[in-house]
Amino acid sequence: MSTKKRYTKTELNKFRKIIEKKMDVTSQDNADIKESMGNDFSSDAGLSPDSVYSVHMADAGTDSHEREKSYLFMARESAYYRNLEDALERIDRGEFGICAICEELIPKERMVEVPNATKCVDCKTKQKLNLV
Ligand SMILES: [Zn+2]
Repeated sequence: MSTKKRYTKTELNKFRKIIEKKMDVTSQDNADIKESMGNDFSSDAGLSPDSVYSVHMADAGTDSHEREKSYLFMARESAYYRNLEDALERIDRGEFGICAICEELIPKERMVEVPNATKCVDCKTKQKLNLV
C-alpha cells in the first residue's frame, strides 16, 4: 500500500482551499436565493415562519411555482454543500483523492473539478456498467 501514490500535504492544502472556496460560493448562492425570495423565508422577520407562510399562501399563485423552483435549487445546493464538507473530512482522514474501489490516485484535474469525487472515472464507468 505504501508504494501507491498519494497527494502530498501541500497538494491537500490546496484542495482544501479550493473546496472551502466552493463552499463559500455555494452558501452565498443560497443566501442570494433566500434574499430574492423575500422576507417570507427569513426567520428574523419578526413573524413565525408559519404565519408568514399562511399569509403568503392566501395570495399565492403565480409565484409559488418560482418559489418551488428556488426550494429545489436550494435543496440541491445544500446537498452539494454537504458533499464538499465530506470532501474536507476525507482530507482530514487522508482519503481524499483516492479511488474507493481501485485505491489509485484520482487525477488532480478531476479532483479540482469534482472535489467530492470518491471514485476514478474508470471505476465509476465500470460501476455504471455493473462490472465491479
Ligand atoms: Zn478506481
